[in-house]
Amino acid sequence: MSNSATPNIGSLSFASTGSHCCWYCGRGEDALPIKLQKCGRCGLAEYCNRECQRGDWKLHKAKCKRLTEIVVRQGRCDVRKLLRSGALRRRLLTLSEGTIILTIRDPDITTIGDMILPRERARFEAPFFECKSLLRVDLHGCTKLTSVGHAAFWDCSSLTSLVLPDSLTQLGNGAFNRCSSLTSVMLPDSITQISMGAFQDCSSLTSLVLPGSLTHLGEATFANCTSLTSVVLPDSLTHMGESAFAACTSLTSVVLPDSLTQLGVSAFANCTSLTSVVLPDSLTMLGEGAFVECTSLTSVVLPDSLTQLGKGSFQDCTSLKSVVMPDSLTQLGDVAFERCNSLTSVVLPDSLTQLGVGAFLRCSSLTSVVLPDSLTQIGEQAFGGCTSLTSVVFPDSLTQMGDGAFGECTSLTSAVLPNSLTQLGKQAFCECTSLTSVVLPNSLTQVGMGAFGICTSLMSAVLPDSITQVGEGAFVECTSLISVVLPDSLTQLGDVAFKRCDSLTSIALPACAKLGDNVFAKCNALLQEADLAGFASVELYLRDRYRSITLRKLVLRLLRKYNQAVNNADGTEAEKHATALALFPADNTGSLEFGLFLQKMNLSGGDGVIGLVGYILEFV
Ligand SMILES: [Zn+2]
Ligand SMILES: [Zn+2]
Repeated sequence: MSNSATPNIGSLSFASTGSHCCWYCGRGEDALPIKLQKCGRCGLAEYCNRECQRGDWKLHKAKCKRLTEIVVRQGRCDVRKLLRSGALRRRLLTLSEGTIILTIRDPDITTIGDMILPRERARFEAPFFECKSLLRVDLHGCTKLTSVGHAAFWDCSSLTSLVLPDSLTQLGNGAFNRCSSLTSVMLPDSITQISMGAFQDCSSLTSLVLPGSLTHLGEATFANCTSLTSVVLPDSLTHMGESAFAACTSLTSVVLPDSLTQLGVSAFANCTSLTSVVLPDSLTMLGEGAFVECTSLTSVVLPDSLTQLGKGSFQDCTSLKSVVMPDSLTQLGDVAFERCNSLTSVVLPDSLTQLGVGAFLRCSSLTSVVLPDSLTQIGEQAFGGCTSLTSVVFPDSLTQMGDGAFGECTSLTSAVLPNSLTQLGKQAFCECTSLTSVVLPNSLTQVGMGAFGICTSLMSAVLPDSITQVGEGAFVECTSLISVVLPDSLTQLGDVAFKRCDSLTSIALPACAKLGDNVFAKCNALLQEADLAGFASVELYLRDRYRSITLRKLVLRLLRKYNQAVNNADGTEAEKHATALALFPADNTGSLEFGLFLQKMNLSGGDGVIGLVGYILEFV
């Protein structure tokens, strides 16, 4: 050999006996019509033609003369012993970065490294751990090789190419982890399993062809392969581990096979260039955070087989404009679409019974949502902070609405809650500053703490006969609230329930209701009226009015009757609701007026007043 940098290991041979492929384009000699041509200076680099040589020169120039080929061959040495003793690694560690072309030819060895090597011993025992001198590795001549063990080539950061034999079935944990110069890998058709982190942090890997034999991809196998642009997964694949392609920030497209039933936790988390993904019809579950922070993903079609969407599956997909959900879906996980702030509309399927906590939290572009007739529960904060949401049609199946379910939906103008609802959570509609009217159903017994707090546009509220408790701060700071009709059934009004309702002038306060502290504190209009009428407090004034105005009960009855009549007369969901505004006189003389506003709810989401009926009743 002419090369002066030849390592001095007696048992190694330095003949050029490896598999031949172009150092620039990677094509094998078998696939070419002509023989590869060698670089005239080093005699080692091989190219298809002058173009390929010229293309590679920028990289090759620096190492050209220093390149050394090491061939480890059965017959000349005990290959197994050479690998196991660490003698080869020790030698490789002394050589310059990226200068060694290593060929191993041994038709008997079945493994390189160890498939059960504990992680903490990898640094000392993995055969090529941190061998930065390796430029190219050719294992083609190891014709019985079935596995490359744990961390075998860990952090071989100059390794640019790799030839693997057709007998290989498994790649161990971290086998090629941090091989940051590796640009492409041809995995043989025999591979069935690629274990945890095998190619993690291979930051130059641009293309990947996974063979049709592959069944198992371990955890984080290709995580952080930041140059990987596309992936086609084979039809043989049945298992994909957690974070398999997490943080592959250049990945733009993925084709998933029909063999896959689940996508692992964080499978494509943080793939910030991924614009589209086709999910197979075999998929039943999307793991937790499967597509979290895929900030370029614009649309997704969920397959008809899917029953569950894991927690945070599309959280922070800030470009996601449309989602098509299948009729098979029964559960939408917590924060599944949190902060998808490009999502404008959502149609939820008829199969859905639950919406998880924060499912659409802070989807600030969401203008409309159609809730299915199957839905029974809306989780806490499910639509919290959906500041563009103008209308929601609630289905008759709904029984529970979680805390803050529609909190801070600052564009929501009306809420007609269905007769099935038995629970309204704390702050359910808190800070819905555009909400002008609300209709509560007869099925409800409590208005939760702060349920309508700071709804500064709310003008009237009619509470049904079923209500026994109004929670703490339920209507606090509803500064536009003029009138409230409280039912005779009310037993408890919570602390500060109507505090700072500046505009409140008319309220029917049932005699038997117990009042918490400061229920009407800073209700300036009411305070003034009470003062003018000579009462020491608003409470005393209201209680006195309730007792003295006997007609009030008649009016309330009429109001409810009217509501009931509208409910019964119209069979359609859309048009059955009415809200009422009653204006009671300040004393028991003069006239009592009240109006009924009939509201039409369109299926498309809009609402509008379709009729106004006014009555003037005179006190006798
Ligand atoms: Zn070439
Ligand atoms: Zn050269």
